[in-house]
This record gives sequence, structure tokens and C-alpha cells, in this order.
Amino acid sequence: MKKGLLLVISGPSGAGKGTICKSLLEQNSNINLSVSATTREPRPGEVEGVNYYFLEKEKFKSMIVEGEFLEHAEVYGNYYGTPKAKVMEKLNSGEDVLLEIDIQGALKVKEIYPNGVFIFILPPSMEELKSRLEGRGTETKEAMLRRMESAYHEIEYVFKYDYAVLNDKVDLAVKTIESIIEAEKARVHRQENILEEF
Ligand code: ADP
Ligand code: 5GP
Repeated sequence: MKKGLLLVISGPSGAGKGTICKSLLEQNSNINLSVSATTREPRPGEVEGVNYYFLEKEKFKSMIVEGEFLEHAEVYGNYYGTPKAKVMEKLNSGEDVLLEIDIQGALKVKEIYPNGVFIFILPPSMEELKSRLEGRGTETKEAMLRRMESAYHEIEYVFKYDYAVLNDKVDLAVKTIESIIEAEKARVHRQENILEEF
């Protein structure tokens, strides 16, 4: 059976990954979001099993030892990881899976699963990134500065990705990603049995 597409979306904090993924998922019910595990505290309104699986550090570490993550990384002092079993199950049954993960995680996934599609979300400018982070209002001033500082290094990693999508207008960014998905599915190497019906 034809495997599903593994879509990996990353980029600096505040670039709009969450916003874009939410809209992409609302408009494409065939895409499955992989819910990550994290040791960070839930933000107001975040729901267990929907936004993240919120775990104690000990539990997270035991899952690492048991090999239950496809990848995991420490991001801004907390652990984040992609539970492996569900992702592989969906891909193997032909369903598309979306990972919204940080750059370290994306590069690890690229090593293990080079057949994935790696998309980097760029903000229109660093000033706009700062104002989006401020506008979101979820970070302390210190945490925000840390995220901005990281963003300057992270942006350089765009060259390791397959696609760079500018998030100026959310709708346009989502459309671009939908076009990428369509084009990737038409690639010959993803359609080994293309001539079977002829
Ligand atoms: P990330 O998931 O990359 O950290 P978010 O999706 O949380 O970023 O977006 C950060 C903030 O910027 C949010 O308040 C969001 O509403 C806002 N935002 C996202 N995309 C845009 C956009 N294209 N134009 C204006 N504001 C945006
Ligand atoms: P936040 O705390 O703002 O939800 O996420 C912080 C960062 O962690 C974001 O860049 C987000 O993409 C990343 N992240 C979320 N889940 C995972 C994951 O499973 N693995 C990795 N490596 N990063 C993740």
C-alpha cells in the first residue's frame, strides 16, 4: 500500500506555525496532527491529548528509554517529543501525518525518514516576529527574549529544509502548503505503481 505523506513544519517561535497548522487541519480533514508529549506546563486553554500530552519529567525520560519517541528534544528548558507508534501506524496505512516540531527535532526526523516533506515557516521580518510574540502574550519577558535570541540562529537552518513558506498572510501560507502537498503527491518516486492500470 502507498504510504502517507509525513509533513514536518518548523520555524522560529512566533512565526505562526500553530496558526497555520490549525487552519491547514481545519481545511484538510484527511491530515492527522501528531500530538506531541511535553514536560512544559499547560497554557490557559490548552487541553491534555489535544494540544499536547503533558507529562512529568520522569515519565518522559522513561519513554525515551523505552524508545517510544520518533524524536525528542529539549526546547527552551522543557522536553518535547513525537510519540512514534501512532505516526508510523498512520503512515503505513496510507494516511498523511503532520508534525509541528522544532528545528532540532525536524533534522532528526530528516535523518530517520528522509522521505518526509520538510517545510520552514518564515516570518516577514524579525520585527514582525517580535511583535507577534508580544501580541500572543504567552511568554514572560525573559522567555520572549530567549525565543527571539534563538530565532536569529534558527533562521539559518532554512537551507536544510525542502520548502520555505513566508507567513505574511495566513491564508496564502496555507494555500502554498496545500500546493506543496499536491505537488509532492504527484512526484513519480511516490507513485511506484503508477503504470499498473495501463
Ligand atoms: P508559533 O506556533 O510559530 O510559535 P503562533 O501560531 O502561535 O506561532 O503565532 C504567533 C502569534 O502571531 C499569534 O498571536 C498569532 O495569532 C499571530 N500570527 C500568526 N500568523 C500571523 C499572520 N500571518 N499575521 C499576523 N499575525 C499572525
Ligand atoms: P510551545 O512551547 O510554544 O508549544 O513549543 C515550543 C517549541 O517546541 C515549538 O518550536 C514547537 O514546534 C516545538 N515542539 C512541539 N512539539 C515538539 C516535538 O514533539 N518535538 C520537538 N522536537 N519539538 C516540538
